[in-house]
Amino acid sequence: MIYCQGTKMLRSRNRKYCRICYFCSGTFDKGNFVKIRNVYNIGKNKIKRMHLLLILFGAIVSYFFWIQYIYYRQNSAKSRKHWLRFMLCRDKQIKSSQTSDLTGDVRALFLTAHPDDECMFFAPAILRLVELNASVHLLCLSQGNYYNQGFQRREELLDSCAVLGIPASQVTIHDCNTSSRPHNRRPRETTTAQDLQIQLLHLGDRLRPATQTADKTGELPDDPNVEWSISMASSLILKHIRAHSINLVLTFDGRGVSGHSNHTAIYKAVSYLASIGNIPDDCSLLSLLTIGVLRKYLFFLELPISWLLPSDLCCVIGSKGYIQAKRAMLCHRTQLLWFRYLYIWFSRYMIINTFQVIDQGPKNLKIY
Ligand SMILES: [Zn+2]
Repeated sequence: MIYCQGTKMLRSRNRKYCRICYFCSGTFDKGNFVKIRNVYNIGKNKIKRMHLLLILFGAIVSYFFWIQYIYYRQNSAKSRKHWLRFMLCRDKQIKSSQTSDLTGDVRALFLTAHPDDECMFFAPAILRLVELNASVHLLCLSQGNYYNQGFQRREELLDSCAVLGIPASQVTIHDCNTSSRPHNRRPRETTTAQDLQIQLLHLGDRLRPATQTADKTGELPDDPNVEWSISMASSLILKHIRAHSINLVLTFDGRGVSGHSNHTAIYKAVSYLASIGNIPDDCSLLSLLTIGVLRKYLFFLELPISWLLPSDLCCVIGSKGYIQAKRAMLCHRTQLLWFRYLYIWFSRYMIINTFQVIDQGPKNLKIY
C-alpha cells in the first residue's frame, strides 16, 4: 500500500481525496502531485499488464498440459481395454495381459463413400486399430468418378491405404460398371484453367443439396446431387460384413461430417440394417461424430472439448500418427486443391475421432 504522505491530494467536486490511496487526507501540492502521479501511473499500468500477461501465459501453459494429459490418458493401457470392450464384446471383462491376444480377433470395417474419406476423416481410428494389431478392412462405395478421374483415384486410394497400414487385399472399391468404361482407364491430364474450374465446382458442390435419386443400374455414383439407393448400399454392406466376419463397423453419422449426401446415405444404410436387426450379433456399429465448423478447424486445440463432451469412443493420435495421416492424404494427388491443404493443416479430424454407438433393433425383424 502506498500512502500519499499528505502531499499528493487533489481537490475535486468540493471533496478532498487522494488520487493514490483514496482514503487519507492532507494538504494538496499540485506540482508535486502531478509529478508523483505520472511516475506512479506508469508503474501501475506496467504491473497490470504484467499480471494480465502472467495470467494469459499460465492459462496457455495449463491448456497445453491438459492436452498432453488427455493424449496420454487416451493412449494408456486402460484406454486400450476400453477399445477392446467395444471391438469385441462390450460387457466382457478384459485383463491387461489379455489385450495383445484379443486384438487379433478384431475385424474392423471402415465404410466410406469416396477415395480420400479414409484419410480425411478416419485416419486416427485406422492408425489406432492397426497399432492394436486389428485386421482392418475398407469398403469404399464409389471410386470417385465425378470428374472422370476414377482410375487415378482408385490407385491413389490403394497408395493411401498402404501408408495407413491397410493391405490392398483388404480394400474393396465398389465400382459397378463404371471402371470398364474406356475413359476411366487412362490417366487424365488437366490444364490450369480446367483445374480452376474443378476447384470452383468442388466448392459449389459442397453447398448444393442432393436433388436427384440414383437410377436402378446398380451404380452408387460419386455425386452430391444424387441420393444413393439405401437398399442397394445396405445389401452391399451386409454382404461385406458377412463375407469377412466383421465385428466392428465404423462409418459416418447422419450429418456425414461434411454434409455430403453420399456420406449420409451410408449412415442411412447402416442404420437401416441395425434397425431391422440384420447385423450379426457380435458386430458393433460406430458412427463418426460430426462437429461444428469452428471446432473442426481448431486442430489439436480442440482435444479438451472432444474429451469433455459425451461420446462412446475417442481416438487421438500423436505427431507421428499425424505425419502418417498427412502422407496418406498427399497420396490423393488429384484432390490436392488449395483448400485441402488448409484442411490437412487445421482439421481436427486429422488427429481426433470421436464415435457414437449406433443402436441395434430386435434381431431379424420381418417388415411386411
Ligand atoms: Zn467423401
